[in-house]
Amino acid sequence: MLKDNLEAVEKRVLAACERAGRSRESVRLIAVSKTKPVEMLEEIMNCGVKDFGENKVQEMCSKTEEITEPLRWHLIGHLQRNKVKYIVDKAYMIHSVDSVRLAREIQKEAEKHRVVCQVLIEVNIGGEETKDGVPKEEAAALIREIAAFPNVRVKGLMTIAPPVEDPEEARGYFKEMRALFETIKAEKIPGVEMEELSMGMTGDFEVAIEEGATMIRVGTAIFGARQYGAPESADTP
Ligand SMILES: *Cc1c(COP(=O)(O)O)cnc(C)c1O
Repeated sequence: MLKDNLEAVEKRVLAACERAGRSRESVRLIAVSKTKPVEMLEEIMNCGVKDFGENKVQEMCSKTEEITEPLRWHLIGHLQRNKVKYIVDKAYMIHSVDSVRLAREIQKEAEKHRVVCQVLIEVNIGGEETKDGVPKEEAAALIREIAAFPNVRVKGLMTIAPPVEDPEEARGYFKEMRALFETIKAEKIPGVEMEELSMGMTGDFEVAIEEGATMIRVGTAIFGARQYGAPESADTP
């Protein structure tokens, strides 16, 4: 049962919050539902979860059409500029902004749809060549530039830590993210609301909470392993 998975995750979130002396309310759990059918989302939704994460524009769009309850949809995957127009009025928050060009496109489409789009700046904290995200040295400058866009509201930072064997090995990256977050926050850039630090996934969310994450993105621990290639549907177990 997915409910049991969710309860187990909740317990771990709560324990990590207690270890860190933080309130449970200071951490938002985003259920990452990518590749999973809407029936599974609804099961989790019925347990009270309102935040869902998707990494593909098309998949997010079709799910927002099928599930009409008011949920907060987080776009957590790489976003191509030509797809911004499809999600700018559907996403509660875009976690993956890493260039001025992308932000400019979001500005253009958000203005057209008369919305203000909340975004996080994705940071490539491990300096990995294959990863999206801005190098940490460039994050502040990027935010200063995006701050000028009236329909794009920077709300904080996001990262995907490099894959590690032991979650403890990710701690240093999360510490660096927290430090970067605090430095940029202290700048008090007009128009920027540094409130969210999106970091931590199934393998490392407890360490991320201990290091200050305000949003964790958990897929596998809630929905089970993803099967790529084979399309999943409600009637395949
Ligand atoms: C898939 C994904 C997650 C969730 O990963 P799990 O290991 O299944 O918890 C989190 N963040 C991003 C950006 C993802 O693409």
